[in-house]
Amino acid sequence: MFSKILIANRGEIACRVIRTARRMGIKTVAVYSDADADALHVRESDEAVRIGPAASAESYLRIDRMIEACRQTGAEAVHPGYGFLSEKAAFAEALAAAGIVFIGPPPAAIAAMGDKIESKKLAHAAGVSTVPGHLGVIPDAETALRIAREIGYPVMVKASAGGGGKGMRIARTDGELREGFRSAANEARSSFADDRVFLEKYIEEPRHIEIQVLGDAHGNVIHLGERECSIQRRHQKVFEEAPSPFLDEATRAAMGAQAVALAKAVGYRSAGTVEFIVDRERNFYFLEMNTRLQVEHPVTEWVTGLDLVELMIRIAAGERLPLRQEDVRLSGWAIEARVYAEDPVRGFLPSIGRLTRYLPPTGDDIRVDTGIYEGAEITVHYDPMIAKLVTRGASREAATRRMAEALDAFCIRGLSHNLGFLAAVLGKERFRRGALSTNFIAEEFPGGYAGATLSDEAKRNLIAVAAAVRRRLAERESRISGQVSTQAPSIGAQWVVVSGAEQHAVMVEPAAGGYQVTAGGAATQHVALDWRPGEPILRARIDGVLSVFQIDGDGVGFRLAHAGAAMTVRVLRPAAAALLAHMPVKEAPDLSRFLLSPMPGLLVGIAVKEGQEVKAGEELATVEAMKMENVLRAERDGRVAKIRARAGDSLAVDDIILEFA
Ligand code: ADP
Repeated sequence: MFSKILIANRGEIACRVIRTARRMGIKTVAVYSDADADALHVRESDEAVRIGPAASAESYLRIDRMIEACRQTGAEAVHPGYGFLSEKAAFAEALAAAGIVFIGPPPAAIAAMGDKIESKKLAHAAGVSTVPGHLGVIPDAETALRIAREIGYPVMVKASAGGGGKGMRIARTDGELREGFRSAANEARSSFADDRVFLEKYIEEPRHIEIQVLGDAHGNVIHLGERECSIQRRHQKVFEEAPSPFLDEATRAAMGAQAVALAKAVGYRSAGTVEFIVDRERNFYFLEMNTRLQVEHPVTEWVTGLDLVELMIRIAAGERLPLRQEDVRLSGWAIEARVYAEDPVRGFLPSIGRLTRYLPPTGDDIRVDTGIYEGAEITVHYDPMIAKLVTRGASREAATRRMAEALDAFCIRGLSHNLGFLAAVLGKERFRRGALSTNFIAEEFPGGYAGATLSDEAKRNLIAVAAAVRRRLAERESRISGQVSTQAPSIGAQWVVVSGAEQHAVMVEPAAGGYQVTAGGAATQHVALDWRPGEPILRARIDGVLSVFQIDGDGVGFRLAHAGAAMTVRVLRPAAAALLAHMPVKEAPDLSRFLLSPMPGLLVGIAVKEGQEVKAGEELATVEAMKMENVLRAERDGRVAKIRARAGDSLAVDDIILEFA
């Protein structure tokens, strides 16, 4: 076994690998860029080596620096994590040449699976079912149109070098195909410096189900069942679970057998994932093979009881697989949610900044894999993932319930995050039914995500909790007011919970271990609070049922959130509430006349001219951000009055691009 390994990565996955290595008694070396000098993976490793400036191209993607760091520290093997150099055959080759072990597959297997066109050809030859399509590079839009007519719409344009959902477009008409061909090729060129694209049939209502495989250096290959990753946004996974609620035993076995056949055909070793797309009739088609550890590997670990990182290390050290296919047992259910620094209500724009508060949920059946800590920063340089939240249970329902509680109890402050959105996805009846497809988010949140709407019951609970909190604060003020005021306010049972234009008269009176709260003509609720002023998480028992709330601000006004829905309230005495009618109302400025940049990015081009009439849906401008091209379209018919930005401009959020008449 190795005595020291280097982790050629950062963030949560570097921390994840360090954890297992430590348990195995292996020393760890972290590498870091200037932006990561204070990062968690640096703190948690035994040694750390600086490898360059913030930009990945000058640090985490530098093969020479990684090898130099191994030499310097005496690391005998390298775990690449995911992303960065993990699927670069040249990295595995360079390590081998330097006499360092790569904790991953052989370079030839990486190369064979690295190209979507080539890997599909190989899979087809190995007897794996592939999506109907054209396995060749499409030179121009005219050829694309001709081939699309042969395959039949809808089709998908894909970058051969693609990854991370980039360089991919769905087309249902010739017009969409022309535009999709151009933008997929552009995106592929800027992301992968390779603009080769191909076409395949677009599978309707697709589910993304992938098989985890594991091979050793002695020719043994097994599979560890599937993960379903159908909940995606822009082809990026949001929720993953194991097992899949859709597969029956026969389909699982058939997919597993094909995945193993493919792994054997490429001489695979280490952990790998064969991704399939599955249609309504449970026909499955090979998408691609990821020759590395996946982000979502924890769900497989939880249903199999295995540590995939440990197995990867043992396999790299030459050990045999410790189990045969028939020894693999799947039990229980595990779900993973990806917690991102992004703003779901503003089109999921990435958010950056410092985590002023960070309290991940803890408890049984909750696992949080993260690379950050309170006070850490999410920067523009790397992926904006904050953490992976994983829960498990004996059934899908139990794992889901645990996930809902864990999301409610996850406290992140200082930047925008998607916790509320994740809770809203989980709260959908369709999620509970397991009726998933990769269109789930688009169909369940048509027109984007605008924050969850409060059910009547949720609203009633929020009002009751707000009133109880206010009463608790008033009691505290009155107890300590002798020190700050000569006149202690009498507490009084009558309060008004004000939310926007609504006013709810509420009566709050102390009762056994909590308060009796009566709002309007509704039935009285008993509310017991487990909370101290200043704490961001509030546990309340409402009529005996525990709910977890997030609370911000104290005193008179606060924001309460639960299950993805939030309410900002002020709790006033009746006399103060009555005076609100006399307060002036501030009107929001009308911004609909402007096209604002929805994200920080580079203005690639403007498709219109001053004075031009545009129709709703027409392309106005293209902004490139995080290597994705985003086409901005007219929301309604109008005339362009003035163009205020130029191609090449670097834009901040809300910068004005153009003005309508
Ligand atoms: P990447 O390597 O960029 O992640 P994949 O080929 O793995 O790209 O595809 C990512 C996602 O795109 C899939 O999970 C699926 O949701 C969708 N997708 C890919 N190909 C098809 C297809 N032919 N039909 C329908 N959806 C597809």
